[in-house]
Amino acid sequence: MQELLKTHFGYDTFRPLQKEIIDTVLAGKDTLVLMPTGGGKSLCFQLPALVLPGITIVVSPLIALMKDQVDGLCANGISAAFLNSSLSVREQLDVMTRARSGEIKILYLAPERIGSYGFYDFLVDLNVSLLAIDEAHCISEWGHDFRPEYRNLSSLRMKIPKTPIIALTATATPYVRDDILSQLNIRKEGVFTSGFNRENLHYSVRPKLNTFSRLKELVQTHSGESIIIYCFSRKNTEDVAEKLTKAGFSAAPYHAGLPQKDRERTQERFIRDEVPIIVATIAFGMGIDKPDVRLVVHMDLPKTIEGYYQETGRAGRDGLPSECVLYYSYADRRKQEFFINRIEDDHEQKLATRKLDDMVEYCQNSVCRRFFLLMYFGEKNVLTFCDACDNCVKADVEEADATEIAQKIMSAILKTGERFGAAHVCDVLRGSKKKRILELGHQNLSVHGIASDMPIGALRTYVQSLKTVGFIEQNDGEYPTLKVTQKGRLALMDKSKIALPVVDVVKEVKQSASTSKSDLAYDERVFEKLRVLRKDIAHEQNVPPFIIFGDRTLHEMAFYLPSSLEKLSTLFGVGEKKLEAFGEPFLTCIAQCVTEFALQEHDKPRSTKSPLTPTSGHVSTTLQETKELLTQMLSIEEMAVRRGLSSGTIIQHIEKLVYTEEGLAIAHLKPEDSIFQAMKAGFEKNNRATLTSVYKQLDEKFTYDELRLARLFLER
Ligand code: ADP
Ligand code: ZN
Repeated sequence: MQELLKTHFGYDTFRPLQKEIIDTVLAGKDTLVLMPTGGGKSLCFQLPALVLPGITIVVSPLIALMKDQVDGLCANGISAAFLNSSLSVREQLDVMTRARSGEIKILYLAPERIGSYGFYDFLVDLNVSLLAIDEAHCISEWGHDFRPEYRNLSSLRMKIPKTPIIALTATATPYVRDDILSQLNIRKEGVFTSGFNRENLHYSVRPKLNTFSRLKELVQTHSGESIIIYCFSRKNTEDVAEKLTKAGFSAAPYHAGLPQKDRERTQERFIRDEVPIIVATIAFGMGIDKPDVRLVVHMDLPKTIEGYYQETGRAGRDGLPSECVLYYSYADRRKQEFFINRIEDDHEQKLATRKLDDMVEYCQNSVCRRFFLLMYFGEKNVLTFCDACDNCVKADVEEADATEIAQKIMSAILKTGERFGAAHVCDVLRGSKKKRILELGHQNLSVHGIASDMPIGALRTYVQSLKTVGFIEQNDGEYPTLKVTQKGRLALMDKSKIALPVVDVVKEVKQSASTSKSDLAYDERVFEKLRVLRKDIAHEQNVPPFIIFGDRTLHEMAFYLPSSLEKLSTLFGVGEKKLEAFGEPFLTCIAQCVTEFALQEHDKPRSTKSPLTPTSGHVSTTLQETKELLTQMLSIEEMAVRRGLSSGTIIQHIEKLVYTEEGLAIAHLKPEDSIFQAMKAGFEKNNRATLTSVYKQLDEKFTYDELRLARLFLER
């Protein structure tokens, strides 16, 4: 199996569950595979197809993708074909003849074909070894994408009862899952689910301020890479695409209002790396299987977490680090509410509101974004931090004394009567002479202009941080206004020191840039040259560039700089067929680079573990320092004082330490029993168990920090 994996697909190791699934399929049992996008579902039927004696039939609703999939298989030396309405009658007959002769190993079909006249006669002539059903959720009316033609599959199943079936999907709630099982008559034991975590995706939510200039900076850090930018309205997609184009980027809009021809062309150019940026409504994506999308941006608040998860899921299918950024403003909620209010069905309206609430909570919450998403999809035993979302990374961000600016902001909120939102408060602080300020006489307040030297972006971020740490709060009414909390008032009166994360706009950009590069320190110049070569070859062969080699393979080439076919063959994604077809031109290009840039070849280590997988077990120095204090049995507060950090940060450190270090002594930090029991009950009552919901459940009696700490002592 391992050998086939390398010779045909060029991979050294199986992804989680692939091996188990393949074994089950080969044992002739039915399976349902639930894996997130990019999890590697296709391999679960493609590899068995090579071993099984007869043909494997793959049913897929995505006609537009079939050609790419078949091209991809053929490039790997696997005999595959598809039958759908895009072929002429003659071409179809040709494929059918080849299938009958046993020449084709994998045949892709559209679901409507199954109910069509003469199909069963064709089927009887074939020796079908395996039936694969892609996007299996389409069979369920409960799903978000029901296709009536999928119902034909139940009868197909009865026609070939002895043939094992493998159903695959990335999106299935428990309801849909059961529906698939019963429609296809698959037993529960055959379900494999690898969870929803997309490890290589970095999630962040950023305030919707100066958004376009922020967007430009962000896009710049992914220069030349494929990017999808989602907007709420068709008009926005056109505006943003136009502005980006004016700013010198190559971007195209995509929405359902554009002529079909234009849409197809845009999609094609995107897949072929001819236009890197697509600005789209959510109409874009269903037919996109591009493995190397490095950035997905949401300019507006999505309607539901399901939708958000699916759209961001289009980033980084190839497993390389990729980024998902959402620009959030509370005002967006009202935009969505406007549409929700027009839903006539009462029940549906309520449901939509609840889903929107969840989405807003995702944005406003300060817990790990990944944790939040996984809890939402009902996963158990998930880590509460990840190191790859803004909320987690923030914990390690330097904190600095922000007493002065914090006092200024809180004073301005109080002096304006706690009746205004962040925008107005910041205007006052920066000494604006806007009409509204003058009308209200706010230019006469003592706080007017006391932070005139601070850039608006930084000021807004401080306001955000003060909210996060609970010194101020924002009510959720129609016009969100800021208030100073009890905690904030105390801090003001005591003149106590306030530490906040360092605000540095430049740093934010740098950080996001680094997330998109792989751990391999490859030579960028070589990578660029290889990319050009890849595109040329792809053009010549009339296939998308990623069919030739994926980014990860090019990264390895640009790092190891192999000088022979043999060495090239050890790299990720280089199978026998591709080595033969494209090896020479790539070696020539590498050799030229080695001379031109005076570089040296590296040997690829023979370990099965890819050098691209992040090193684990590494504990950062800041965590080490906290650990040191922890072993001295200090309290949270003492540790915070010693380290000059907030208690919240110390607790987050401990959360991380508990997962990486065994037998850590934390018993002395356990809250007093009566309090602990109360909090525990709160967690237990709340099956969603996001901190916010527990916080509310407990009538906001405990702080988030207290809850976090208590959570460490809950049974797992
Ligand atoms: P899905 O259908 O689950 O969204 P795919 O089957 O398209 O995912 O696989 C996603 C990507 O992962 C593809 O580029 C595929 O080539 C790659 N892949 C699949 N299995 C492996 C593996 N064992 N090792 C490395 N890459 C893999
Ligand atoms: Zn996280």
